[in-house]
Amino acid sequence: MGIRKILTVDEPALHKTCRPVENFDKKLHSLLDDMRQTLIDSEGVGLAAPQVGILRRVVLVDTGEEILELVNPTLLETDGEQTGAEGCLSVPGKYGLVKRPYYAKVRAQDRNGQWYEYEGEELIARCFCHELDHLDGIIYTEVMERYLTEEELMGED
Ligand SMILES: [Zn+2]
Repeated sequence: MGIRKILTVDEPALHKTCRPVENFDKKLHSLLDDMRQTLIDSEGVGLAAPQVGILRRVVLVDTGEEILELVNPTLLETDGEQTGAEGCLSVPGKYGLVKRPYYAKVRAQDRNGQWYEYEGEELIARCFCHELDHLDGIIYTEVMERYLTEEELMGED
């Protein structure tokens, strides 16, 4: 265990609907620990369980202050919109232009089954939507307007 292999977009696991987590046990905890290491190692902002081949409703989101563990997450509320660059660890080397809500509030369980809510704007809201989509087998390339060109990406910084 430790760092897990991240599947790429051609793998069937990334296109399936994930099942809810029912047991908040050691197996879930080691999945979360491994996903955390994998996310840090890959320098991503978020990671969903299907990206490491586990078809369960589990995602991690790095808020910049902490890495949130979201088990069985749902979107409670969204507001506004933003259109910007989005990438995915499962679609290496590419970025697309994706429209997302500017604000999002989620409800999820922690690793012990305790429910909590978290809200965020901009990148955090974008990441919540992107990662929750993964749990329903949706990759950003299916909802994006188009891929960004290299020139546009250089201009992003
Ligand atoms: Zn992704």
